[in-house]
Amino acid sequence: MDHQKYRNWIEMDMKNELSTEEKEEFLKHLELCENCRMEQEEKNKKNKNVASPVESDRKKIEADEDKQELKIENKSMKNSKKR
Ligand SMILES: [Zn+2]
Repeated sequence: MDHQKYRNWIEMDMKNELSTEEKEEFLKHLELCENCRMEQEEKNKKNKNVASPVESDRKKIEADEDKQELKIENKSMKNSKKR
């Protein structure tokens, strides 16, 4: 599967740049692919942060996100070992 394409589509979806067919394909992929789904959640969170310009809060949230990304990486490493 072409995950890089869907990563790009996450941003396009936030800007409503996907066609109806693309959006359908995109949502189907997110159902199947936990990694891309998490990526979408992260991007949505960051998108919201941009809307609220409270600098100190943003730094805290970014630090939390770094921790979460580490967790996700560990998880996917374990999964790939199982397979
Ligand atoms: Zn994917």
